[in-house]
Amino acid sequence: STVLLTGANGFIGFQITRFLLEKGYNVVGTVRAESKTKYLKEQFSKFASGDKAKLKFAVVEDIAKPGAFDTVLKENNFDAVIHSSSPFFQTAKDIEKELYEPAIEGTVGILRSIHAHAPSVKRVVITSSFASNLNTKKGNWPEHTYTEEDWNPITREEGLEDPAAGYNASKKLAEEAAWDFLKKQEPSFSLTTICPPMVYGPPEQEVTDLSKLNTSAADMYSLFCGQREASNQAWIWVDVRDVALAHVLALETSAAPNQRYLISCGRYSAQQFLDYIWQNYLERAKDKKVSKGTPGKLYPEEGTYTSDNSKSKKDLGLRYRDLDTMMDDTFARFKELELII
Ligand code: NDP
Repeated sequence: STVLLTGANGFIGFQITRFLLEKGYNVVGTVRAESKTKYLKEQFSKFASGDKAKLKFAVVEDIAKPGAFDTVLKENNFDAVIHSSSPFFQTAKDIEKELYEPAIEGTVGILRSIHAHAPSVKRVVITSSFASNLNTKKGNWPEHTYTEEDWNPITREEGLEDPAAGYNASKKLAEEAAWDFLKKQEPSFSLTTICPPMVYGPPEQEVTDLSKLNTSAADMYSLFCGQREASNQAWIWVDVRDVALAHVLALETSAAPNQRYLISCGRYSAQQFLDYIWQNYLERAKDKKVSKGTPGKLYPEEGTYTSDNSKSKKDLGLRYRDLDTMMDDTFARFKELELII
């Protein structure tokens, strides 16, 4: 089977590429510039060389441009598409241009192109986000358990109010537009959306500068460097390797077509990262003046929301890595990157 994966060089995209190749798929990964393929070719050299290479690349400079994916879709005979590329940063100045356009137009654009030019595609999986489930108006919402039924009520206008809201709205509006496309166009492919909350785990994508890590890895690394106090943007998390695997399982499982999955391991607190650093990297913690926070006090008195991941376990057979495994692997990777870079 041949899969088109957009954003193959991203934090999550890298891991999706790995699972696809390990499972024997042929992969065409899209990136924004040719220069971004070098590291991936090296990492996946046993799949990326020779006439029969199982990993190839296509450059798509601007995913928001109409027909951006037409060429790559016409030139290959894809069985499935995984669309993971979308901006994830919380400092946008022009929310329409930097977030809404690539997120929404990128998503609808690729669906339109598949519908028009790639009749061989049977399944499409889109990386959405817990941002499209989360209701920020409800705050910590202690009595609530988030499921696939939850939709963020944020409007396009409300998302323009600040960059964090803008990111949340970009993901919600993109996912909504995808389901809307499916309903109106009735294409011959099915759709599955993957909604992960905070995605942590070892950054194995190309990192040339530790001050430019992807947003969620930077969230942990800044604590490891004593650059901020503990704070939670969301109270639930998942390991990057589990999110990536969920995308691939969604291509394979008979239950997945036309379903939405909340891919969450469960609750966590940034205080757990601080406690871990002080327990396992004591000298560094002192040296970098890592915040102690309030050791052991993980959640606000009132409590927080939780999540229900039973649908993903039942349908996809997903088993989630725990927080300790993730922290072991992530902080070790940060140390390794500090030595390499
Ligand atoms: P990365 O920033 O590492 O990856 C994002 C990918 O999308 C990269 O390939 C990036 O390309 C591409 N991309 C970003 N902006 C654009 C744009 N304007 N035009 C074209 N391509 C673009 O982040 P993640 O791996 O974390 O994000 C991948 C997906 O996962 C996104 O859809 C994100 O919304 C979603 N997600 C992430 C979560 C997390 O905690 N990490 C949580 C929930 C959802 P380039 O390298 O060239 O910038």
